[in-house]
Amino acid sequence: MTLHPTLARQLHDLSLSPDMPPSARSWCHLLEQVSRAYAEMEASSDPYERPLGVRLQALLQAIPDFLFLVDEQGCYLEMLAGDPARLLIPVEVLLGRRFDEVMQEPIAARLMQALHATLADGEVRTVEYGLHRGDEERIYEGRMVRVTTGEAPQVLFLVRDVSASVESEGVARMLQTVLSQASEGIVIVRGQDRRVLYANDAVTDTLGYTPEELMAEGEGFLRHELDQALCDELCQLARNRDAVKKEAAIHDKEGGERKVWLSIDTLRNSAGEIDFFVCLLTDLTEIERSRQMLAYQAAHDSLTGLPNRTSLRERLGQALARARRHDASGAVLLLDLDRFKHINDSLGHGVGDEVLCQAAARIDGACREEDFVARLGGDEFVVVLEDLQSPTQAGRVAEKILQAFREPLRLKGEEELHVTPSIGVCVFPDDEEDADDLVRRADAAMYEAKGRGGNSFDFHHPDMTERARRHLEIERALRLAIAEDRLEVHYQPQFDLASGSLASMEALVRWRLPDGRLRPPGEFIGVAELSGLIVPLGYWVVEAVCRQIRAWHEAGLGCTQVAINVSARQLAEPAFAGRVSELLAQYGVPSTCVELEVTESIEVPPGSIRMRNIEQLREAGLRLAVDDFGTGHSSLANLKRFPLSALKIDQSFVQDVGRDPSDEAIIRAIIAMAKALGLETVAEGVEHELQLAFLRELGCDRVQGYLPGRPMPADEMAELLASRGSCCQEQADGGHAS
Ligand code: C2E
Ligand code: MG
Ligand code: MG
Repeated sequence: MTLHPTLARQLHDLSLSPDMPPSARSWCHLLEQVSRAYAEMEASSDPYERPLGVRLQALLQAIPDFLFLVDEQGCYLEMLAGDPARLLIPVEVLLGRRFDEVMQEPIAARLMQALHATLADGEVRTVEYGLHRGDEERIYEGRMVRVTTGEAPQVLFLVRDVSASVESEGVARMLQTVLSQASEGIVIVRGQDRRVLYANDAVTDTLGYTPEELMAEGEGFLRHELDQALCDELCQLARNRDAVKKEAAIHDKEGGERKVWLSIDTLRNSAGEIDFFVCLLTDLTEIERSRQMLAYQAAHDSLTGLPNRTSLRERLGQALARARRHDASGAVLLLDLDRFKHINDSLGHGVGDEVLCQAAARIDGACREEDFVARLGGDEFVVVLEDLQSPTQAGRVAEKILQAFREPLRLKGEEELHVTPSIGVCVFPDDEEDADDLVRRADAAMYEAKGRGGNSFDFHHPDMTERARRHLEIERALRLAIAEDRLEVHYQPQFDLASGSLASMEALVRWRLPDGRLRPPGEFIGVAELSGLIVPLGYWVVEAVCRQIRAWHEAGLGCTQVAINVSARQLAEPAFAGRVSELLAQYGVPSTCVELEVTESIEVPPGSIRMRNIEQLREAGLRLAVDDFGTGHSSLANLKRFPLSALKIDQSFVQDVGRDPSDEAIIRAIIAMAKALGLETVAEGVEHELQLAFLRELGCDRVQGYLPGRPMPADEMAELLASRGSCCQEQADGGHAS
């Protein structure tokens, strides 16, 4: 007998079988059950509800989700459950339409994919998607379940609005990120048993325990045995006052001490008991480290990493005190790189910085571990030596440093640069001196070494300080004198020996002091060269001479040749030749009217800035004379490299004419050589007739000296020009020279 499955189940539940008559009690139960089934069936008139059953229907209405029946094309067949009023798309629109007709293409495609997959394997698929209407956006989670009623496969599509949970999940995630990324450690501890419930990464950074280790049962947050007393104290304090703030030393996993700032708050329940302690922990170890870093920066030079002037003063003060206490001696070495300003100006600050760093390394490398090397600023370095056996030991260190610079520096661009220092050495202790005095004295000795051409060292001796002070005084006053136009140019005539006419004149600078006296160049040109003031001073002289030539020309005194002295430092200025040409043009002075005198001793390497200046000046038409000739070591080959017009025989030879045959021989040789090279000769310092006769006999071209004419102010020279005519005029007055 085939029974309806429902009836068969009911019989089974009542332990009845179709082939056995039931007891009276069982029969009653059976009738009750059958009657209920009929009633349920009658209560539902809808064909869909009937198979689902009334209870299921009631259940579906109770849940907040929507339940759709969808066919295999993704077409909404029926809405089985849910409140249609809460749908974002009205139910009338949905029913009979496919996913792709009511949703955006990518969402529809994802839903179709899930639908096909579910139909294929019967597994439940979940898709999360968002829908918009106007400004409103909702997020849904759709689940698809295959149902096989009838022939056509269908899918139950259960849709849940998860917008609110997605949003709160977002907020929770954000809070989680804030907590975990906070730079302060955050620990939440349960009040009753002090178990750690939460600890962020910063706590791990400070204490070395992972959050899992910290949260393990039975362990506290301040778990090191050395921290137990502190932990009890903090809990007690928090119980009494709700909040505790305290700087403390706690211990990390390795037992290392960490300085921290602790801030503890309590969260209490309605009974006033502490549910949680919320602890904030700021690691002061870092702050301490940055404090130390700042202190380091304040004491060191950022470019070279060497201790700076501040450290030097402190260290030198201590060294001085130690030396006095122990009756020991030490030394201060002050180094200055030769021609560094020039390197910086011509090759750029990048190269300058590189040179300083490499120089610092060489100096440091030449010293012992216990010596103190500092950068004073600019291109100045200081080495402090302690416990010297004798002052000569300081000299040996200076020698070693010079040695360290013998090899050229190799720059990043593979270029090589020869850099040398000048070193001043001052030995201590002496009485009544402090750290600054020592540096000042070493500085004076350094100047002395530099004055001798650099790449050497010198010891400080007492009168040097006085000289350094005087140098400084002159430098300051000269700077002012240039600015206030208190320099003057005097002119010393040069006569043509053959004709006796005024051939040229030399411009010689003088400094008019406030009391009216004239200070001769010998007293300030040296200082001007050392300080670099010679550059502005030199331009000042060129301009003054141009202005004067122009004035004489306008006064009808004709074209006049003037020789102007130019120092090595001026020629090393890349702009020198250009500036001189500009000044000549500005005053309308023909370039042939100017002769530049360059002293013999200066070095002019091929391709150097000096060489370029010389060539440029010659191309512009200026004449070039070698001053003080005979005192340097110019070889003939050397002279031939330059486009020269004249040699000026140094006055030291001229002065010994009639007294020293060897000087006479030198003059003879110079004149012969000049003639061979096609150069004019000018004899300087002619004071006696005897000298004049000697020079005339040798065929010297021009003479200059106190005998033919002293240096004189411009107005006196104007008279001379007027009475004798200018150098460019053909005339042969016997004049001064004869
Ligand atoms: P210098 O170029 O060799 O100039 C000649 C020096 O000899 C001048 O000294 C001149 O007054 C002096 N003198 C001339 N005739 C005689 C003489 O018969 N006997 C003696 N004993 N001396 C004589 P001054 O004017 O004191 O100049 C000294 C040096 O200063 C010059 O030597 C020159 O090197 C430098 N100088 C002067 N003016 C300038 C300038 O404008 N620029 C530069 N860079 N240097 C200058
Ligand atoms: Mg001269
Ligand atoms: Mg001279």
